[in-house]
Amino acid sequence: MTTSEASAVVTVRCPFCTSLNKVDLSRAADCHECGECKKPMLLDRPIRVEEQDFQITVLEATVPVLVYFYADWCAPCKMVAPLVDELASEHTGRVLFAKIDTDRAQQLSLAQNIRGIPTLILFSEGKEVGRSVGFEPEKVRSLVAGVT
Ligand SMILES: [Zn+2]
Repeated sequence: MTTSEASAVVTVRCPFCTSLNKVDLSRAADCHECGECKKPMLLDRPIRVEEQDFQITVLEATVPVLVYFYADWCAPCKMVAPLVDELASEHTGRVLFAKIDTDRAQQLSLAQNIRGIPTLILFSEGKEVGRSVGFEPEKVRSLVAGVT
């Protein structure tokens, strides 16, 4: 548990109107709404992050971020997806869960040295602190447990 609740701020893009919102994750249990279009921002599940938002949403987050690199055609990714969903709802407010479509973020995938999917990378304070490749539920759980 963190005592500095005010520092759990992340910047995420509204999936409806695409404006960037600063969100205090320590209040994620409340229903957040977009500052522009007032539609709900659901943070108890992985949020889709595009390549251009990786810096601000993942690297500049003040909470750890677990990033799930996947592709729609990837069968093993479909095994990992429910695990990511489950962890996201378990750790709402303490860890941000992001998903990145590697087909849409090829430069970024290269820069992050993604050699196979699914790959899960845990970032803390802008640095990689752990990585899991393939279906490794125990490893992923312990990675997330290590930062919460
Ligand atoms: Zn919006």
